[in-house]
Amino acid sequence: MKIPFLHFPATHMPIKKEMMEAFELVFDSSWFILGQQVNAFEKAYAHFNQVEHCIGVSNGLDALHLALKSLHIGPGDEVIVPSNTFIATVLAVSYVGATPVFVEPDRKTYNIDPKKLEEKITPKTKAIMPVHLYGQACEMDEIMSIASKHGLYVIEDNAQSQGATYDGKITGSFGNINATSFYPGKNLGALGDAGGITTNDATLAEKARTLSNYGTKVKYVNDDIGFNMRMDEMQAAFLKVKLAHLNNWIEQRRQIAKWYDEYLSEINQIILPYTHPSATHTYHLYVIRTERRDELQKHLTSLNIGTLIHYPIPPHLQNAYADLGFGKGSFPIAEEIADTCISLPIWPGMTEEQVAYVSQGIKSFFNA
Ligand SMILES: *Cc1c(COP(=O)(O)O)cnc(C)c1O
Repeated sequence: MKIPFLHFPATHMPIKKEMMEAFELVFDSSWFILGQQVNAFEKAYAHFNQVEHCIGVSNGLDALHLALKSLHIGPGDEVIVPSNTFIATVLAVSYVGATPVFVEPDRKTYNIDPKKLEEKITPKTKAIMPVHLYGQACEMDEIMSIASKHGLYVIEDNAQSQGATYDGKITGSFGNINATSFYPGKNLGALGDAGGITTNDATLAEKARTLSNYGTKVKYVNDDIGFNMRMDEMQAAFLKVKLAHLNNWIEQRRQIAKWYDEYLSEINQIILPYTHPSATHTYHLYVIRTERRDELQKHLTSLNIGTLIHYPIPPHLQNAYADLGFGKGSFPIAEEIADTCISLPIWPGMTEEQVAYVSQGIKSFFNA
């Protein structure tokens, strides 16, 4: 058996007809930028995410950048980010000229540790950017109360966790202005690049929308030095079709995670995903940890099982951030996760037989 890390046909083939119809609709309309499709998707996604406003944009990184820019965060400001996130969260802070300040994650959830947040707050701190990593919601009750106590903005990076909840409230609806990604491999993915902003603040929504379209509200009248960071009609049409299936796909991811949990439970050399009792997990990724990560990955590759590492180098150790002056050992938990994590195959439509095969491959490694 060959098991790739991600297998789009299993998810996409059942909706091929609907997707082709969406394509035809846009093709026949001959309207490709900022039209009915983007409008309709924004409404549908705002409804799904239980917020007043959604702005469709070009990708997740641009959504983060626009969120920071809309809050007028810039040079001299500090923004708190987790030390174990995907680089985009940190890049967005750099784009606006602010300084990223890293806070270590919790060892069990892999999400930013609220207990370590307050010690990193300075008079320059403007915002906290919690990242709902791998599909699980951060401890938003504590994060929101720390933010409100210190008068800080919250910008959620919800790229990996559309549909997750904390205390029953959906991620992407807590912060002042929040970002998500519709990169193809995300839980809700376009057939190309796309992203979104969610907020309940009408002023911030208008600001972000204006900035995403050259800084204009009225064509050829520029209020801001804006960007071209728009979602296009074709991606919006595809996303609208896929959004109707998202809850079902999240349920399938949870079932797959449950199978893995069961099949892998007897192997005591690995750490399985842990879900905080107040959080729900949408399993964008199913991440396990072992000291023998590199050997395990090689073994699985030899069995034709695809795996990925999310992520092998934490942001503070990237060459791009050498100027921040952090060496090895600066953020030991992020480094430990980077050295020991491995993401197993998961996609909506993956079968129990495929999960069993991957699990058997892992067992055979540790029993050898
Ligand atoms: C994917 C991702 C992004 C960036 O999204 P793009 O659409 O690829 O730009 C940002 N943050 C996190 C946590 C992500 O996983």
